[in-house]
Amino acid sequence: MPELPEVETLVRDLQRLLVGAEIKSVDIGWSRSVALPAADELAVELPGRRFLNVSRRGKFLQFDLSGPGYLLIHLRMTGHLAVQPDTAEPHPYARVVFHLTDDRRLTFSDPRKFGRLYWLDHPDLVLGRLGPDPLADDLTLGGFAALMHGRRGSIKPLLLDQGVLAGLGNIYTDEALFRAHIHPQRKACTLSDDEVEHLYGAVREVLLQAIDNRGTTLEDDRFRDAEGHPGGNRPHLMVSRHREQPCPCCGAILERTVVGGRGTYFCPHCQPVAP
Ligand SMILES: [Zn+2]
Repeated sequence: MPELPEVETLVRDLQRLLVGAEIKSVDIGWSRSVALPAADELAVELPGRRFLNVSRRGKFLQFDLSGPGYLLIHLRMTGHLAVQPDTAEPHPYARVVFHLTDDRRLTFSDPRKFGRLYWLDHPDLVLGRLGPDPLADDLTLGGFAALMHGRRGSIKPLLLDQGVLAGLGNIYTDEALFRAHIHPQRKACTLSDDEVEHLYGAVREVLLQAIDNRGTTLEDDRFRDAEGHPGGNRPHLMVSRHREQPCPCCGAILERTVVGGRGTYFCPHCQPVAP
């Protein structure tokens, strides 16, 4: 599923492609993709509005439009956004289509139908429950350490909890824990100051590298940018999806286990259970 770097890649594309464009009409293919308000209200409210800005908080995309209200989109497992000429072949899993007055369209497609759109008076009605974004300028090492403080649960589920830190998913959590040499099942409150500092750096490093490479497209070929191109970060993953391959640091065979219900890749040598 798209994580912070894939969402950021789409945000940068959509900022370039959409700002200034005006919505002509909205087609709703699957009304339950619209969480708030009722889908038909969205189709009445949005025509005539212009895209003023596209941004991101965690894994949510935020569209600022002319006039009151904000549009948020969460892609969940299989959601995707693409900008195309309106004459292009319709996407088989199109759920909401924004036709633009310049004869292009923004298509929200979603085979599994878990993605959601929100049309709100203020974005904090949904985004207010998120933890800080790991790339936010104001998330200092001290602020990051405070998120770990007193947490007796395992570190991986904590990093995946969007109410604690907004943006990480399964792939980049495994990558960050590997680079910080921390076992995914370590209890967060047992991390030393040095380990917290390494993790803070590793989280930002793996996310920034993936953004530079325009996101990760796996074998399922699911992630594409807003113009249909795959991301280039797959070869830069060091442990995720590398079951029974040698560790790039020590050569030990990487293992896969399940932590918090999620398939988890790690090096048993570089990431010992005990500190
Ligand atoms: Zn290793």
